[in-house]
Amino acid sequence: MRYVLAVVLVLGLAAGAAFVVSGRAVAPAIRILQPTTFVGADTTLDVTVEAPKSQLSRLDIVLEQNGKRTPLFSLAAPGTAALTQETADRIRVSRPIGKRALPDLQAGAARIVVTAARTVLFGLRTRETTAARDITARFTPPRIAAVSTHQYVNLGGSEMVVYSVSPPDASSGVLVGDRFYPGYPAAGAGMKSSDPGLRVAFFALLYDQDLTTPIRLVARDEAGNQAQAPFDYKTFTKKFTRGRIELTDDFLHRAVPQILEHSPELKVAVTSNEDYVPAFLKINNDLRRIDAEKLVALAKQTSPEMLWKGPFIPLGNAKVESKFADHRTYFYKGQEIDQQVHLGFDLAVTKQIPVKAGNDGRVVYADYLGIYGNCVVIDHGMGVQSLYGHLSSIDVKPGETVTRGQQIGRSGMTGLAGGDHLHFAILLQGQPVNPVEWWDPHWVEDRVMRKLHE
Ligand SMILES: [Zn+2]
Repeated sequence: MRYVLAVVLVLGLAAGAAFVVSGRAVAPAIRILQPTTFVGADTTLDVTVEAPKSQLSRLDIVLEQNGKRTPLFSLAAPGTAALTQETADRIRVSRPIGKRALPDLQAGAARIVVTAARTVLFGLRTRETTAARDITARFTPPRIAAVSTHQYVNLGGSEMVVYSVSPPDASSGVLVGDRFYPGYPAAGAGMKSSDPGLRVAFFALLYDQDLTTPIRLVARDEAGNQAQAPFDYKTFTKKFTRGRIELTDDFLHRAVPQILEHSPELKVAVTSNEDYVPAFLKINNDLRRIDAEKLVALAKQTSPEMLWKGPFIPLGNAKVESKFADHRTYFYKGQEIDQQVHLGFDLAVTKQIPVKAGNDGRVVYADYLGIYGNCVVIDHGMGVQSLYGHLSSIDVKPGETVTRGQQIGRSGMTGLAGGDHLHFAILLQGQPVNPVEWWDPHWVEDRVMRKLHE
């Protein structure tokens, strides 16, 4: 009898211990990745659940709104969503939950509730987790409309439009073909207005885009609802020049090794005379493209405020050696070996002439930059930046504020430069545009200032 009691006691203790231990076994871990705040017409639900070997006895996802429960997913009926095994222990459930997928969804507050469970202790106990996310359903597309009038865009040139967007937290801007130019709060351009949705956007028709490229205002709110609106603009063609560049051995032997030394990513070396032309072609194509990508990345550092005022200043008394969008054909020993488009102005005066900031701004780059050699990029805000290439010396540092006319370095022939000159470029969201407009007081007044004052 005592023996039986002892056995019962031991078994009881063991069962109790197992109960306690199983109670500590990990419950499933739920993460609601999407939506975070809003649901619109085409929102996607994204949930991950983690449990040992992904063994779940239950997984239910429900949308609650106004006392109504709409099932979004259930292990019992997984057909409604895409279920993917991400790791041995983690699954992901994805499905559309916007108005298009759930026509009964109403605008306003709603809640997503996820319940996951796994059984432990040979199926005798269940460990359950619940996670919820409060969301707001919003289906009204944003409203967007132009405020300024008479936008005129030259091929390769820039323009600016003032417009109003509602709700003000919607992201918006100008779409030129597939290129997006964000708008910035108009207060950053000194405009005083009671409309918190008033925006200023600088945009461009790039030298290689078609004159008939559609240009329109676009907006997208946090719920993913989109709107677009036409505005008043005209495009004008522009004839670009063509040039010939004769490559000499002197030039190749001077420029190529210096650029390669600063560009290990190209993985090119020159040892014999035959290596120079292939290395030049690699620089003129691959490095040129890498540099262009770096300039687009630098545009992300732009200030939301317009830091400049008045026309940009050119290099005084300079001889123009090459214009914007000059189509160049490269020859070596009489043979055509390459073609490129020159996306800036080449200005020459004398050797090592002081180079001045074209306008007020903040330095975002001051270092060697591929084909541009020693290079300074100044941010003027709202996506507008100016570039100064081939410098012999640099007098500024990144982060430094500069004023119009301040010396930033001296001209030189570093990078891909045949002689001492300044390569000057204006960039809009990192894309080169014609600098001539930005030097022209009439253009600056009519295309920019007039619209800010009106
Ligand atoms: Zn140039």
